[in-house]
This record gives sequence, structure tokens and C-alpha cells, in this order.
Amino acid sequence: MERLVRDCFRNGGYVFAERPEEIAKRHGISRVARLASNENPDPPSAATLGCGIAALHQANRYPDERVDVLVAALKRHFGEYPFVTGVGMDGVIETLFRTLVDCGDTVAIATPTFSFYSLAAVAQGATVVPVQRRDDFSIDPKKLSAAGKDAKVVVLCSPNNPTGNATPVDAVEEVLCAISGVLFLDCAYVEFSDIDYLPLLKRYDNLVIGRTFSKVHSLAGLRIGYAFVPAWLQPYYLRAGTPFSVNNVSAAVAAAALFDTEHAERYRAQVSRWRERFRSEVKYPVLPSDANFVMVDVSPSSGDAVAGGLAANGVIVRSCRSFPGLADHYIRVSVGEDWENERFIQAINNL
Ligand SMILES: *Cc1c(COP(=O)(O)O)cnc(C)c1O
Repeated sequence: MERLVRDCFRNGGYVFAERPEEIAKRHGISRVARLASNENPDPPSAATLGCGIAALHQANRYPDERVDVLVAALKRHFGEYPFVTGVGMDGVIETLFRTLVDCGDTVAIATPTFSFYSLAAVAQGATVVPVQRRDDFSIDPKKLSAAGKDAKVVVLCSPNNPTGNATPVDAVEEVLCAISGVLFLDCAYVEFSDIDYLPLLKRYDNLVIGRTFSKVHSLAGLRIGYAFVPAWLQPYYLRAGTPFSVNNVSAAVAAAALFDTEHAERYRAQVSRWRERFRSEVKYPVLPSDANFVMVDVSPSSGDAVAGGLAANGVIVRSCRSFPGLADHYIRVSVGEDWENERFIQAINNL
């Protein structure tokens, strides 16, 4: 019966991090350092979680389809922008593509980068055009604009996963001016940088900025993403989306987390401190990063070999081999708790 499955799902798919329980069992290690998924290692505060408990008591009811509690919190925090929400930013990307991308349309993606854009675009029947970044992983705005000239959507991740570098505002603006479609700017890690793209929203009606509660806000498990969208797009996004996608527990917890500045600040400080320590103490070149992870050039070893060696020492990192357009000698390492980061430095330097 498999012949019934669409061709686009026959191979590939999302590459998940190895499970900590399996690594622990395989290598006989009791506590594993989890540095592969760019999560905030601190759980949400008790006060933030308390808002979810109240919402849980309403689980018999469908959630608010407009997600008012979260949208109101976003407006209080950022100002009066048109917002949309989704099941993680991945859910936002999927719904955005469903809204805009027809079979045969083009989606241009600055590469190497996060893999889900391509998976979501292909699922819409789109033609994906990867646009290779420069050797230092910066984008060439002219090249991206030319390749994305007639694309429905151009995708740019900044700070970029897995390379860690951010794209300057003027380069983003150059692309916005040159393309005829929408620029989807993935800002999953923007809280760890000093860059601010929001002023561009007032001047361009083809800019969508995606953000998530999964990283700085410690809510990866509750699946909440959002985006700043142009006003014209918002009603169509709501029409294209799955009804009742964001549940009421996630919405209530996210609304509270947005104002838990102490929680976010603590991790931001942790990230700045450890990005520096990784750069000065790891024996391999560590690339500059504006995110809560760093990419490490482990050549002449391969990313897989080093990730495997680290796993044997109880440290899970991401080998970057599965990122198309990237050489196979990189790993990506998240900033975790102190003991995890210490163990990583010690383990990699002893390989
Ligand atoms: C983590 C991540 C996301 C999505 O996160 P969600 O958990 O789906 O909100 C989106 N883009 C990039 C680049 C990411 O690294």
C-alpha cells in the first residue's frame, strides 16, 4: 500500500537529536549533557507554570481560536503589530507556506540552514532553490535577491542555525527591496543577539518575522511560535491554518513567560559568558555566534566522528553533516548548564 504515499515523503525527513536515554544506556553514563537542541536548560519558573495549571482546568473546552491571551501579551510586550501564532515556529512556517505556496511555486532558501523550510516547502509541491552563503556564511544579498526574484517566499534565518552568524539589517533590507515575494526572516535566536529587525516591518509589506518560545523562554515542549506579519496576510493565514492549533495551556504559559524577564536574562547572561569561554578554551576553531549555540570546525576530523566521541563521554552535540551545503567537519554545540559546558570543553579537548 506504500505506493499511495506521496513521493516527497519517500526519503529524508527531519533529523532528530539522539535520545539522551539511549546514549546513557549505550555508554553506561548516568548523567548526559544535552547540548544538541539549543534549549534553555532551566525549566520555566513556578509562577509561569502556574498560569498553565489554571488553563488545564478548562481542558474540556476548545481553546480560543484567536489565541487572545497570547496575542494580547505580544502586543503589550512589542506594540501594535499584526501577529499570528502556531504550533511552534515550525507550525507557523507550515501555515505560512500553506497560505502562500502553490504547487510549482519557488521557495528560495539561504543555505546552509535549518532543514524544516525545505521539508515544508516540498510538502506544498514547491520547487526549492538553495542559495549558497559565502565561505564565511554571510549572505550575498544580490545573489539571494537574484535567485529569489520570482520566488513566492525567500527564507533567511538570522542568527542562522547552525552557523550562528546574524545578517545585518541593511543586507536584509536590500533583499526586501529586490524581491517580488515574501521574505520569511527566521528569528528563533534573535534574543541572543543585539540586532533588531522590527523597524523594517513599518517600511516593508513583504516581511514576515518568525519567533519562538522554544529557545530563550524554555517552552520547547509546549510548542508555541508566532510571527509578525503584514496586515494583508493575517486574515489569509488564519483561514489556511488548522483550527484550534495552539492549545490554551500553551497560550497561557507563553503569555506569562513573555514577562518573566528575570528568567530570560539569566540565560542570556549564561549564553554570553559561555560563548566566550567556548571560543577561548576549545582547541578547535569556534565560529563567532549571535545565538545560544556555537558551530565548531573540527577538521581534519568529521562532525560525525567528533559527535560520536563526545557521546561516548556523555555529551550530546549535533553533528552538522545532515545540513545540505555544509562541509562535513562541523559540530553545533548549545550553551547548557555550567556542568554540561564544562564537560563539553574537557571532553572535546581530550578527544
Ligand atoms: C528551533 C528552531 C525553530 C523552531 O522552533 P519551534 O520549536 O518549532 O518553535 C525555527 N527555526 C529555527 C532556525 C530553529 O532553530
